[in-house]
Amino acid sequence: MTSTPDALVAADRARIIHPYLPASAEERVVMTQGSGCRVTDVHGRSYLDATGGLWLAQIGHGRAEVAQAAQEQMSRLEYFTSFWEFSNDRAVELACRLTELGPDGLGHVYFTSGGSEGNEAALKMARYYHHRRGEPERTWILARHKAYHGVGYGGSSANGFPLYHEGFAPMVPHISHLTPPWPYRSELYGGEDPTDFLIRELEERIAEVGPGRIAAMLAEPIMGVGGMLVPPDDYWPRVREVLDRHGILLIFDEVVTAYGRTGSWFAAQHFGVTPDIIVTAKGLTSGYIPLGALLVGDHVAEQLTAGDGFPMGYTYNGHPVAAAVALENLRIIEREGLLARAVEAGAGLHAGLEAALGDLPVVGEIRSVGMMLAVELVTDKESRTPLPVRPERMPHDVIRRETGVIVRDAAHSLVLSPPLILDPAEAKEIAAGMRTVLERTRADGEI
Ligand code: PLP
Repeated sequence: MTSTPDALVAADRARIIHPYLPASAEERVVMTQGSGCRVTDVHGRSYLDATGGLWLAQIGHGRAEVAQAAQEQMSRLEYFTSFWEFSNDRAVELACRLTELGPDGLGHVYFTSGGSEGNEAALKMARYYHHRRGEPERTWILARHKAYHGVGYGGSSANGFPLYHEGFAPMVPHISHLTPPWPYRSELYGGEDPTDFLIRELEERIAEVGPGRIAAMLAEPIMGVGGMLVPPDDYWPRVREVLDRHGILLIFDEVVTAYGRTGSWFAAQHFGVTPDIIVTAKGLTSGYIPLGALLVGDHVAEQLTAGDGFPMGYTYNGHPVAAAVALENLRIIEREGLLARAVEAGAGLHAGLEAALGDLPVVGEIRSVGMMLAVELVTDKESRTPLPVRPERMPHDVIRRETGVIVRDAAHSLVLSPPLILDPAEAKEIAAGMRTVLERTRADGEI
């Protein structure tokens, strides 16, 4: 057994394949405890978790009431399948709660174990929906550059970065990528209004592919991994109108944006649009246990469940312990008013970042919606050239090592998604920690 801190770190290095980490990397940060917005590593060092784990710790770490809900459920019914006619009381309760919280018309729920599974399910639902309606030629999916939809073959084919395709070929065919909404990068739109440009491109692409051949558009309402890209307010209503005109489904990948992160239960409500399917995971349980849920439009569900029913299921669909944890998590979000808190604390953090970082030459734009924030890094404010990346000394790594504040790098931006319970003192600590490093970051990326 590996008991000392150093032995644990060595065993991690020897045994665990970490995503996005070369085996040659020496450093490991092995966490052992969490409470509120803080986590502690095996050496006893405390960190301020400004990424909320991986965009998900809405209620913060270490809540005893969640552990108790899991324990109670596990002692009563730890598992039963949701295939065929079987179900369990917790899954039913959670499905009812989710359809109450979601937009009108999305009255059905399909459970998964996480976001990647959720996007696979949504893509298959979209094609199957059209198949059932007698339009099997609707196979194409519209996605966007800089999108992230997880690691399944469907989702990663829809991802908008070459990194997720290189070495994994052949990717799933019939996926077409559009320009992302990113107003700060006005050069993408050649001087045109960003929404006008993007809607024209969408119409042109639909005409090119053929309107009767497209099943759905899969999109994050706010692109997370792509750098927290916030679309102009008129973008989603106008996209919805175009898709409706052509009978194309809209799938919102709300794996990051749901459950209060934007200040609404779902970003769909924030933007005032109703997608046909919403994919969620992460904040549904605040990460206490893996669970995903799709909110499915009644018109879609009707097609999926006709005939012999939807021919696709996961062993863990509607897992009762995960559902019990999600119900407790949602109760806490509601009881503690965390939607309003996300707006208030997010605005406070945004203002703190502006005050601490706004004058620095390498800080291009600070943007936020609720408790999703990004600091876009550039060589200088005039040219807006993306700050060069030095993999061995990335700003977010240096910030963590030197100040104990954990932020994340996403495509030349530092992104923040702290627990929604963040307090003003913690917000101050995040801004100060980032300033310590960014104030000496040079235009060539050297720190
Ligand atoms: N979709 C989005 C927008 C995500 O950000 C992520 C993960 O970060 C996923 C899907 C994949 O979810 P999971 O890692 O739970 O499979």
